[in-house]
Amino acid sequence: MNSLDDTHDQALLSWVASANEPGCDFPIQNLPFGRFRRAGSLEPWHVGVAIGDRILDLTLACDKPGWTDAEKERLLPLAQGSLSGFMALGAQARAALRRQLSLALREGSSWQPVLVDCLVPQAQAVMTLPCEVGDYTDFYTGIHHATTVGKLFRPDNPLLPNYKYVPIGYHGRSSSLCASGHAFHRPMGQLKGDAPEPRFAPTARLDYELELGALIGPGNELGEPITMANAEAHLFGVMLLNDWTARDVQSWEYQPLGPFLSKNFASTLSPWVVTMEALAPFRAPFERPAGDPAPLPYLDSEANRTQGALDIALEVWLQTAGMRERGEAAVRLMQSNFRDAYWTLAQLVAHHSSNGCNLRTADLLGSGTQSGPQPGQGGSLLELTQGGKQSITLSNGETRTFLQDGDTVILRGFCERAGRRRIGFGDCAATVLPARTLSSTL
Ligand code: CA
Repeated sequence: MNSLDDTHDQALLSWVASANEPGCDFPIQNLPFGRFRRAGSLEPWHVGVAIGDRILDLTLACDKPGWTDAEKERLLPLAQGSLSGFMALGAQARAALRRQLSLALREGSSWQPVLVDCLVPQAQAVMTLPCEVGDYTDFYTGIHHATTVGKLFRPDNPLLPNYKYVPIGYHGRSSSLCASGHAFHRPMGQLKGDAPEPRFAPTARLDYELELGALIGPGNELGEPITMANAEAHLFGVMLLNDWTARDVQSWEYQPLGPFLSKNFASTLSPWVVTMEALAPFRAPFERPAGDPAPLPYLDSEANRTQGALDIALEVWLQTAGMRERGEAAVRLMQSNFRDAYWTLAQLVAHHSSNGCNLRTADLLGSGTQSGPQPGQGGSLLELTQGGKQSITLSNGETRTFLQDGDTVILRGFCERAGRRRIGFGDCAATVLPARTLSSTL
């Protein structure tokens, strides 16, 4: 596990003033990575680190005189605009760069006059995915989600017998992963419902799923499982993930092989990867309710039991087209916490590779929908509306069962703990456009 050092000190302030404001997602204790370019330009993507409402452009920073040879060497691959080479290096390199940037950005640093013109306002930047994501696997670790959704279909037996033994997952698709801020057309699909025959039409039950996405740092060789003792060392960092779902397509297509076109039309990632080092102050014990089975030995370790979980508050916000027209802010639909997940990230890594399957740098593991234990804490509209049977009323009087055209869904996440500086993930937002008409698709 990643240890705590002076980069986590809550008293640490940055010479970038906005980083010191209470409630800021990106104080100097966070330092997440992303890729960006200046809005309106066609320049190549640069790797940057979020600090307050700015981005430290590592391409520009690397060019500045004054770095030691080791520091320069650390920045060079990143200065070329690629994060994945750095991701493959692992925790030691990450911790070293974190320390280097923390020293350079903290109040009183002699780097201030040098680096001040390497800052780009986030408001003037366009973000892309932080890396080219390889394979994408989606898990199902949210036990409250699994139970609520299971109840809709099997009221007496909501959880299938494998749930408490197997970290359930399926292979997703990375080509349709998008960076926050995009818009996508309501997908077409086969819908059946109670009708005698299916028809091909725009989904009428478009939903979001509140998830966490973990990016793999160093991979493993094919045939060489990752043990629990090493699993954390293969994690690079964490982002927010919206696994949009067409519920009516899903219910007709999912048997017997699981989700397919109901999921792969779009998935949204937040722009910044929060590293495992930044998350170190927010570890929590991995605990199960009394009477639940212990994980099988290959999914168990002392370190996982004592601090395998992560205390990350998660939220879903909605801004309808009407709110946007009237200049109204988004409203919060729910809150949950990743601490409630039934499996830890380390267990997902160990399970995924336990048969010898090789994980590669920049693969993405989705956590599955993270719902809380209370009915109002559903991480999808499917749960909040009891399968579409009961609409929810927004604070402005509008109602929803599923998403309507023009809706913008925003996922937010942050870590807060006494004695620690709050860190956040930045918005993971996307907007639903009307379905393409048949004439425009033919
Ligand atoms: Ca999912």
